[in-house]
Amino acid sequence: MPIVNKKRKVSERPKKVQDDSASDSESSPPPQPAEPEAEETAKSFADLGIIPQLCEACANMGYKNPTPIQAKTIPTSLEGRDVIGLAETGSGKTAAFALPMLQALMESPQAFFGLVLSPTRELAYQISQNFESLGSVIGVKSTVLVGGMDMVAQSIALGKKPHIIVATPGRLVDHLENTKGFSLRNLKYLAIDEADRLLDMDFGDSLDKILKVLPRERRTFLFSATMSSKVESLQRASLSNPTRIAVASKYQTVSTLQSSYLLIPHKSKNLYLTYILNEFAGKSAIIFTSTVHETQRVSYMLRTLGFGAIPLHGQLSQSSRLGALNKFRSGSRDILVATDVAARGLDIPSVDVVMNFDLPTDSKTYIHRVGRTARAGKSGVAISFVTQYDLEVFMRIEYALGKKLPEYDVDKEEVMVIAERVNEAQRQAVIEMKSFDEKRGSRGKNKFGKGKRSRDDMDQEEG
Ligand code: AMP
Repeated sequence: MPIVNKKRKVSERPKKVQDDSASDSESSPPPQPAEPEAEETAKSFADLGIIPQLCEACANMGYKNPTPIQAKTIPTSLEGRDVIGLAETGSGKTAAFALPMLQALMESPQAFFGLVLSPTRELAYQISQNFESLGSVIGVKSTVLVGGMDMVAQSIALGKKPHIIVATPGRLVDHLENTKGFSLRNLKYLAIDEADRLLDMDFGDSLDKILKVLPRERRTFLFSATMSSKVESLQRASLSNPTRIAVASKYQTVSTLQSSYLLIPHKSKNLYLTYILNEFAGKSAIIFTSTVHETQRVSYMLRTLGFGAIPLHGQLSQSSRLGALNKFRSGSRDILVATDVAARGLDIPSVDVVMNFDLPTDSKTYIHRVGRTARAGKSGVAISFVTQYDLEVFMRIEYALGKKLPEYDVDKEEVMVIAERVNEAQRQAVIEMKSFDEKRGSRGKNKFGKGKRSRDDMDQEEG
């Protein structure tokens, strides 16, 4: 519920905000030359060699035409080649590897046919859902092996011999080492998703262990947003004679993104956040903060102000995280306040606005965050708060983006109108944080030793 009258609509953006249709970002290597995409995007899934049942599944999912990464990788994958796909989340990369795997599975169905490695639990669940939806016409069974969930239940699911396993590397290794009768020696397809992220998260050792127990006679797809030297070595260790395929970089895929910054004093962040959220009343937004504490505090404050805000961060239990995401996805909450745990891989289809309440410390994270909006041809807005402490980092981000971002236009006098209410809500949030911490402490001591469970309890209340 907005606390001031909304004066502008998204379609009436401030004049200073320009289209963000620049070329590439910070990542090395330099921008892949944009190959003509018009022809590829005009092709149908059938033209790419996808069989009718799966074309129908795509149509059921609302996929009218292949996305560029699908158009470019699917024919090569169907030829039986290993593929390196350089593409961002939001590009349709999941279906780019799922469709060829499902098509091959249909030709020779078997248990443990395909394995997908994902850096995060949320992404793993999304990928698994994608497989089951696309494969529903053929009754595909997929199971998820991720940390934070019951190992026994996962072992039972493995006992049911699913076709596809989607896993985070650490938990998969646990199962390979401890779950009786489970082996991947007959695996036919491996997909490594968000390889750069997997390696950034120090999954290197687990990946090595996994690769050692997989049969050499298999097809491998590796997807990554960037091609770092670590990814290069993983590629050498896991793919054989691969074809490398890149789609035009992230910024070309999000030409509908309007990104801007707002230079404000650190102490006024809450105020400007509230003001801007009011401007976008009714739109869905993700607010990125840098710490779990801030995520919780900002959520409390926004709720006091009448916004439908929900926190998402790595210290929530897995079920709370999924619950928060589901509420956001279903639209019952329209503002997700998140740490970077939510920045990558999450399939949140309709985010209108991304706000960097806390500026990320590197351009790569910036790119991943703003990639939550302006997806699949929709328009989107990204606004970054830059305070006196962030100037250097912000300049580095701009340098990496290869351009200057426009300043977001606000009427400061108008902002001041809500100052008192925001301050009051902020004071309330601080009180709530205190009682949250106290509750957590006391419950933790009495029942659960380290208080972890009580945080979860609280998060559930929150969610
Ligand atoms: P991904 O990059 O795999 O996370 O996909 C991003 C979003 O695009 C997801 O919501 C997909 O369901 C959706 N998507 C994937 N392929 C297509 C397509 N060919 N047409 C429209 N949407 C798609």
